[in-house]
Amino acid sequence: MRMKSHHIALRLLLWAGVFAALLILFKTFGVTAVRAVSDAETVLTVQTEEGPVKMTMAEYLPRAVAAEMPVSFGPEALKAQAVAARSYVLASRRHEDADICTDSGCCLAYRTEDDLRAFWGGDFEANMAAVTAAAAATDGQVLTYDGEIIQAVFHASSAGSTEDSAAVWSARPYLVTVSSPETAETVPDLVTDVTYTPAELSERLGLAPDGPPETWLGDPEEDAAGRVRTLAIGGQTFTGAYLRGALALTSTDFLARYDEDANVFVFTAAGKGHGVGMSQVGARLMADQGWTYDAILAHYYPGTELTAP
Ligand SMILES: [Zn+2]
Repeated sequence: MRMKSHHIALRLLLWAGVFAALLILFKTFGVTAVRAVSDAETVLTVQTEEGPVKMTMAEYLPRAVAAEMPVSFGPEALKAQAVAARSYVLASRRHEDADICTDSGCCLAYRTEDDLRAFWGGDFEANMAAVTAAAAATDGQVLTYDGEIIQAVFHASSAGSTEDSAAVWSARPYLVTVSSPETAETVPDLVTDVTYTPAELSERLGLAPDGPPETWLGDPEEDAAGRVRTLAIGGQTFTGAYLRGALALTSTDFLARYDEDANVFVFTAAGKGHGVGMSQVGARLMADQGWTYDAILAHYYPGTELTAP
């Protein structure tokens, strides 16, 4: 028995070696290089609330774009969104038995045709035509970096600059801080206040402070994008990402202050979402200024190439 298990271990080791050698060969000779495929030829398994559904990218993508971006953002922003979403779907594959799911908190938002008819009402035909045109005009196009399709994450809005992926997940050379054109003047609701009484804040964060509220806030430590990396509150240190979730802030780009007269803490956040990759509102503003979708994508995902079938 002992000999036999030893033998099996050796064989496994041998196969592992062969596998590693093949992997190196594939990498060296570019076998993993991307070949973009048309949307009609790309079959996806989409994990919906009713279970997995097979459909082509041509069927899936317009409905995902429709769920992710208002049609009013215009053709170039919609095309940028279509390429970002297509790339994201093909690069992610985070589910074992599906390519993508329809939970916006996990993968991407998605609406069925029935949902869209209810959502758009009398504008259904025109709006569906707009998102379908955005997908068709960019048929099969993906963003690549170093020969691989990128994780083209995106977010609703940023104020001035986007976030580096390293501050939220892990570093990616194409998900770095770049400028974004939104300002409080050009974008209504870009900046929002959230207030908490000292008791509410204590409960949300599980604080046990030993001084009066005016002493609770420390100085925030900011990352290179000017967002909150860490902030001490009531003697405990929290990350900006944790506070964004725990306090329902729209972003980690926030300022905190204590308003003594009202006896509340005021958190003023700018922009919406994780801040990484393309800003959707930024894409709209750039499109309004005459930028085409490929230029918008090159701006928000620096160093990438647009690869067509
Ligand atoms: Zn998912």
